[in-house]
Amino acid sequence: RETLYGLLAAHAEARPEAPAARDGTRTLGWRALRDWVDGVAAHLDGALRIGAGERVAIWAGNRLETLVLFLACARQGIACNPSLHRTYTADEIPPLLAALSARALLSEPGWGADRLADPVARFGALPGLAAVLTPAGFPGPGAAPGPAVADPDKVAYLAFTSGTTGTPKCVMHSDNTLLANARDLVRDWGHGPDSVILTLSPLSHHIAWVAVAQWLVAGALLVTDDPPAGTGRLDWILGNRATYVLGVPTHAMDVLAAAGERGLDALGAVRCFYMAGAPIPPAVAEAFVRLGVRPQNVYGMTENSSHHYTHPDDPTEVIVETCGRGGRAYTIGLFDPADPDRPAAPGEIGEIGGRGAALMLGYFGNQAATEASFNREGWFLSGDLGMIDARGNLRVVGRSKDLIIRGGHNIHPARIEALALRHPAVARAAAFPVPDERLGERVCLAVIGEIGAEALLAHLAAEGLSRYDMPEWFLRLDAFPLTASGKVLKRELAAMARAGTL
Ligand code: ATP
Ligand code: MG
Repeated sequence: RETLYGLLAAHAEARPEAPAARDGTRTLGWRALRDWVDGVAAHLDGALRIGAGERVAIWAGNRLETLVLFLACARQGIACNPSLHRTYTADEIPPLLAALSARALLSEPGWGADRLADPVARFGALPGLAAVLTPAGFPGPGAAPGPAVADPDKVAYLAFTSGTTGTPKCVMHSDNTLLANARDLVRDWGHGPDSVILTLSPLSHHIAWVAVAQWLVAGALLVTDDPPAGTGRLDWILGNRATYVLGVPTHAMDVLAAAGERGLDALGAVRCFYMAGAPIPPAVAEAFVRLGVRPQNVYGMTENSSHHYTHPDDPTEVIVETCGRGGRAYTIGLFDPADPDRPAAPGEIGEIGGRGAALMLGYFGNQAATEASFNREGWFLSGDLGMIDARGNLRVVGRSKDLIIRGGHNIHPARIEALALRHPAVARAAAFPVPDERLGERVCLAVIGEIGAEALLAHLAAEGLSRYDMPEWFLRLDAFPLTASGKVLKRELAAMARAGTL
């Protein structure tokens, strides 16, 4: 049966010299990459005595070492958690390592591990931690330690969720769950050995591993680096002749702004731009279509990767307005938000549930959270609300936790945000509840952009927002509080509102 490492080894045999992976300074061919992975696997097995069923963590940048360590772990049946984001401080790392009972850490110089007085003593106080690796002391290529031992059904990859609604949860995926999703994306978008897959999301974010899994299935060239912000992202995409770019909508906006400034009518060789993690403003999707790039509007989450997406043959309206019909590795169902054991009424908004090969194995070390996320029929409940339109395409309405209830009337913030974003002066919008004694909640709309409350109200009314859904409080900001993966932290916006900013 196919494994992550098995795919690497097959490409190394079939096309040893073809370029496989590139970071900021190096490009490696498939054979060189396989040899490096084998050497690191030998180090894990021999010097460090780390084996199948154990865990390794990565708190490092978008460099080849991260990729190599992950693949070496995959070969040895070791679960690797590369999602320790760079925004963590050195003090936050040891508790995470303890929770994972990690046997090794790859750390990035300059991120804080070296700011601790004696990092190894500090980390070494953790029982079981055998090594803190750095890129400088990283093992090189070598001979493999016997045959690969990966079981494609066991945990290979761990990732923290973004922490938008609370403490991040640690999701467990296997070779099989990652590859099931990747095979759908690769088949539907026709990625192959000539594709250049570039991820704007860092290797600490799940989207990058959606890219990695597709890269292994397609045998393409993977580009991962710390891209410069703004205009620099565009140069990076063009310079690498990327054909497929992955990121969050915020990345897409930066790239489009840079392309607009230069008056480009294409994005070099880019044929498809994958965006997930947050609603995709229609203007963003439209701008890509005008550049001859098909946006792949994806609805997905750490728990099930990228299961709903628009397809290359979808008409423009579908691509601009929806998250498409999705792949085969995951089936969704809509459930009654008040009682998720029952299906939603036909045509109604429901909580999005799903099941299929792309679904996680569960939350690591948290059986209670795993059980709480399934309904009685065994469907995984996403906590998101959505509907399926007449053509069978998914429209994500928002998170059930974000629903605003004003005097018993349900208000979906995503709709208000989408309408606000149609005003040219509005760059970002976020609607959220503020407590109200009489009505329970009222709507607050926060925007980034040069626009006053009256003009915004008039615009929303002209766009068809009913007066029952109208925001009653406004907040104009220069920036929104964001998670490390670039999502708006509405609980912080609400706290700002409560703190009297209104
Ligand atoms: P946490 O689970 O820790 O609260 P999170 O849900 O933000 O954080 P991720 O797994 O990174 O962590 O994000 C998945 C969520 O992002 C989805 O459940 C959904 O709410 C949102 N999302 C993803 N894609 C889209 C999309 N296309 N449109 C709207 N929302 C989306
Ligand atoms: Mg979530």
